[in-house]
Amino acid sequence: MARLVMKFGGTSLADLDHIRNVARHVKREVEAGHDVAVVVSAMSGATNQLVEWCRQAAMLHDAREYDAVVASGEQVTAGLLAIVLEGMGVNARSWQGWQLPILTDNAHGSARILDVNGAELIRRFNEHKQTAVIAGFQGLHKETGRITTLGRGGSDTSAVAIAAAIGAERCDIYTDVDGVYTTDPRVVPKARRLDKVAFEEMLELASLGAKVMQVRSVELGMVHNVRIFVRSSFAKPEDIDSKAPPSGTLICDEGDIVEQQVVTGIAFSKDEAQISIRRVEDKPGVAAAIFGPLADSNINVDMIVQNVSADGATTDLTFTVPWADYERARATIEKAKPAIGFERIDGATDVAKISVIGIGMRSHAGVAAKAFKALSERKINIRAITTSEIKFSVLIDAAYTELAVRTLHSLYGLDRA
Ligand code: ASP
Ligand code: MG
Repeated sequence: MARLVMKFGGTSLADLDHIRNVARHVKREVEAGHDVAVVVSAMSGATNQLVEWCRQAAMLHDAREYDAVVASGEQVTAGLLAIVLEGMGVNARSWQGWQLPILTDNAHGSARILDVNGAELIRRFNEHKQTAVIAGFQGLHKETGRITTLGRGGSDTSAVAIAAAIGAERCDIYTDVDGVYTTDPRVVPKARRLDKVAFEEMLELASLGAKVMQVRSVELGMVHNVRIFVRSSFAKPEDIDSKAPPSGTLICDEGDIVEQQVVTGIAFSKDEAQISIRRVEDKPGVAAAIFGPLADSNINVDMIVQNVSADGATTDLTFTVPWADYERARATIEKAKPAIGFERIDGATDVAKISVIGIGMRSHAGVAAKAFKALSERKINIRAITTSEIKFSVLIDAAYTELAVRTLHSLYGLDRA
């Protein structure tokens, strides 16, 4: 029978009542004949609490011990779910990352998965019909024998990695929304749920602000071609008709999408800050003098705009960084001033990045131009623009975020009828 991964997020496991509901979902799939590997997050809020305790213990703490602490949230939910499943007559056992093992590198706090051994899970499916309940978010660094964690939201990535390792037919991500939407429905009530979205588009949506899944999980799904299905955990298991196709969003290969729209979705992020360096000397090596130190400080630079200088001597250079890194970025540039040579730094933190995404852009011209016109008609000023093959982003004043998103959502025909 087909193998299935079912992943449940923290809000779906918030307390024992929720855990019982999850167990009924699992039981439903087991009774339908599937071999199931469940991947769980910690109870909602639990990881935040653990992180906070680490901070209170010592602002600067050993990342290996941080991982030992924060990995514990998933150990609790995995064990509890296994207990509840057993009580319902489902043969189940819990697994921690090190027990499988899920091997990672040693980047504690944001480790990458190197290998997942699914052999024992498969043996138990075949010989004992045993359901596996696996603690997400955690792994093992083999050389040091230490527990690692995969970065916030990392249990999505655990789930996809396990799906690849056991050759699952699908990786179901059960969450508090019933799929991936054209944009955030709280901002645009007319946002539509997508039936399908291509890996590449989902990667952009997730990277650019849509918070449905951890970016790395989508990356991993794309590499291993794992079909990921985002669906609601709040639906009552009894109400799901196992014969009808479930409702949700399938993240899949673009070849599996028959009717490709030009624009698939709009993401936005207010966690941006703009830095403009005024009257930078216009000479070779300046960009390196600016962006080298930022990279060394691990600051991610996103949009970059540089003018061709009018006087041949100096120019302005604008770029964006994550809002949280704004002060650090300014200080880094200030420190590198002698090497760079400029007049002053201007900055703004009340900015937002709006991104329009769609694989169809590859073969359609003028998609972005349409947006620029529509935004100007709304008197929304564009501070910076970036484009790539399947998306473009504009940086605007944060106050206009909602208006801009709604305008573009209608413009590209994404509104629900
Ligand atoms: N519990 C972890 C977190 O809150 C991992 C996850 O939920 O995916 O980030
Ligand atoms: Mg999550």
